[in-house]
Amino acid sequence: MKNNYKISDTPVKAGDLLLNENPFVYVLSSKEKGLRCDNCLQKSKVLKCSGCQFVHYCGRVCQKEAWSGHKWECANLKRVAPKIIPDAARMLAKIVNRLSRGDGQSYRAYYTKTSFRMWKDLMSRKCYIFVLKKKRKNAVKDRKN
Ligand SMILES: [Zn+2]
Ligand SMILES: [Zn+2]
Repeated sequence: MKNNYKISDTPVKAGDLLLNENPFVYVLSSKEKGLRCDNCLQKSKVLKCSGCQFVHYCGRVCQKEAWSGHKWECANLKRVAPKIIPDAARMLAKIVNRLSRGDGQSYRAYYTKTSFRMWKDLMSRKCYIFVLKKKRKNAVKDRKN
């Protein structure tokens, strides 16, 4: 999402919108589990994912929208059930998964209309190598299947 904030000498007032950004990844707090949709985060009547029985959706539209990101997590949540994965661990796993799919090199976060940074810019060299190795390992696994 692009930001309309212009850098100028005008002081920033309380309440001014500086940055409006979609999150790279997010997880619903386990305190809200079953009360809110894991995709749109709206409070409503929700139904469990038939695969993992862990995440909840308000309807087919949200389930379908979330599937590309949830597919990998769904299989892994099913594998470790009935253990409950801490929110922070789920968040980290989602970040690593998204980066290993190559999204860290294409997802742009704008801080002005033309200036942006990418996730790969925030990673240390060591972390970046870890993600690349994981990506290669997954590619080999996909070729075998
Ligand atoms: Zn929803
Ligand atoms: Zn699932």
